[in-house]
Amino acid sequence: MLLKTFGLLALILTSTAPLRAAGKAPAVTYAPESVAALPNFHKRAEWDTAWKEIVYDEPLGNPALITVHHTEEVQPTEPAAILTELRRILRIHTSNDKKMDGKGWSDIGYHFIIDARGRIWEARPLYAKGAHVEAQNDNNIGISLMGNFDPLFKERPLNKPTPAQLESLSLLINRLGEAYNIPLDRRHVVGHRDLDNRKACPGQILYDQLDAISQAASLKAAAMASRIGTRPSENIQEQLRLIPVESPF
Ligand SMILES: [Zn+2]
Repeated sequence: MLLKTFGLLALILTSTAPLRAAGKAPAVTYAPESVAALPNFHKRAEWDTAWKEIVYDEPLGNPALITVHHTEEVQPTEPAAILTELRRILRIHTSNDKKMDGKGWSDIGYHFIIDARGRIWEARPLYAKGAHVEAQNDNNIGISLMGNFDPLFKERPLNKPTPAQLESLSLLINRLGEAYNIPLDRRHVVGHRDLDNRKACPGQILYDQLDAISQAASLKAAAMASRIGTRPSENIQEQLRLIPVESPF
């Protein structure tokens, strides 16, 4: 699968020429082909059947930064509950209702959400500027993991990112880095709090793993390159394993 999709990694998104596949909007995915080819990737239409392409205020621009968040909400594991949670986050982000803490945005704020099963859900189209870091959304891809990983936030149960979530996060970062030439170091793969020190997001538990995650993502990139013979591949598979994480299940 990696070999098969690697040739498609050269797809570049620009603000003037958003990546679009042919067809009606709801069936389209706006992620790079290499992301859409991941077996656990789900396009927007799969969880939001009512979604229609809307006019976004501003384009993302050339992706240059990947910001990791937690949803700071529940971490469902059952498929039906996960869909309900995705739709609930969408409602909160787009509602003007202050009673439900509505944000009043034009669409869901993140570009991707990863659930406890490690499934990657496409959210706001990648060509559109997100709403996930205050005043720093230009060129910034937002990925959020379902759950509350902040021990100090007591309004929700404390979760840990699942091994499947972390694996999908590093894979997604790897593919985005390759597709858009984003260096996979900690200056370009950041936690929300790195950009806004008023925030605890993505929670201490996930934040503590960002070094390992960005490293794993970049090792995966090296491993992918090695398979097409451009880099040495010594023991790279061994290095690809993420640090062990205790499963909450
Ligand atoms: Zn955040």
